[in-house]
Amino acid sequence: MTTAEKLCILGEAARYDASCSSSGSGRQGRSGGLGNACMAGLCHTWAEDGRCISLLKVLMSNDCVFDCAYCASRRSAETRRASFEPRELAELTAEFYRRNYIEGLFLSSAVVGSPDRTMERMIAVLRLLREELGFCGYIHLKVIPGAGEELVRAAGLLADRVSVNIELPSENGLKLLAPQKTRQRILTPMEDIRWLKLQNAEDRRRYRGAPLFAPAGQSTQMIVGATPDTDRKILLLSAALYRRYEMKRVYFSAYVPVGRHPSLPPPDARVPLRREHRLYQADWLMRFYGFTADEITEDDDQLDLELDPKCAWAVRHPEQFPVEVNTADLATLLRVPGVGVKSARRILAARRARRLDVEDVRRLGVVVKRAVFFLTFGGRFYGLKSDSRALLRAQLGDGPAAGGQMTLEECVPRISVPAALPAVGAAG
Ligand code: SF4
Repeated sequence: MTTAEKLCILGEAARYDASCSSSGSGRQGRSGGLGNACMAGLCHTWAEDGRCISLLKVLMSNDCVFDCAYCASRRSAETRRASFEPRELAELTAEFYRRNYIEGLFLSSAVVGSPDRTMERMIAVLRLLREELGFCGYIHLKVIPGAGEELVRAAGLLADRVSVNIELPSENGLKLLAPQKTRQRILTPMEDIRWLKLQNAEDRRRYRGAPLFAPAGQSTQMIVGATPDTDRKILLLSAALYRRYEMKRVYFSAYVPVGRHPSLPPPDARVPLRREHRLYQADWLMRFYGFTADEITEDDDQLDLELDPKCAWAVRHPEQFPVEVNTADLATLLRVPGVGVKSARRILAARRARRLDVEDVRRLGVVVKRAVFFLTFGGRFYGLKSDSRALLRAQLGDGPAAGGQMTLEECVPRISVPAALPAVGAAG
């Protein structure tokens, strides 16, 4: 099989992994080397289905010995198999970089033989790139669940970001759909990464020349909709992952049907991409706006598809509004729909000089068409006179019923599903 054919197969197989943001790396280029993760980072783009991808996002192999029911590369799937040799992939990456096709590498793999064996082959690619070919560009490496600590250490010393997929929101889901993976085998390398990063920070305090360990930190990805787990459960788990493992990002990936299994949703039951979108909005609220998972899902275990989670919370809490834009503190302003982190800070700075009106806050970046229902300006309120929740929801909605940005067609993952899906074999 030619390298080009392998690239077709393994690039296609990698598209299901959503976690490929390059933010946070400070790896500098060096004289005589290739690339610079600090200046350019991974070349971001958005796939047709809304996922963030890089130009070289590829699997080392799709020849998996595991049989996760939700995965196109599972052992029992009828699909063409391919594997790169480490040197082949390293040289391909460097060549693509030289031609300016890519600015980094996102490398994952099916489990070939065993988790450790797979990690050794992936690390061999990174070693060739970093040590022989002088590649200084961004690298995100997927750590295989069950990999040993020494291999995790080696991976983190070569990659900018490392990540272990949490896969499913519940242990029960793993038992049903990915029986060769356990929560323990996933969480152990996550904990290794957290601990090795801490140790690395200490080493670098003592020795200025100590090498960096995964400077862009770790992230993870969760499949949404393959199991009946609720958005509340997903958000509570995300919050715990941020807290416990110092994750940079938790990515959500709407389940795309690739096989039949008694525990999977039927092939025609698509997970709306809007659900994935709402989870990202809720994740943002938890990380930057001071919301907790409990607050976001206090009324319903599922997020509202018609309203973004911040608007939904504000509509549920009329007793908290309106607030005066000229006196509210930062935490209060951050809870106002239409007010972002930057615009809230700008409001605080601007009102030291003068009292703000509607046009002032518009200029500061506030989305006034939303904020106007929750703010007063020098005591004046320009929102609804009625206290009808239904009316307010109608003004704020961005879901399908409100003719929001995503069309109904866009609300399901765009992927061609074969008419007759292969059945998933009994997982061993
Ligand atoms: S381990 Fe599971 S999810 Fe990963 S490639 Fe193999 S079958 Fe797919």
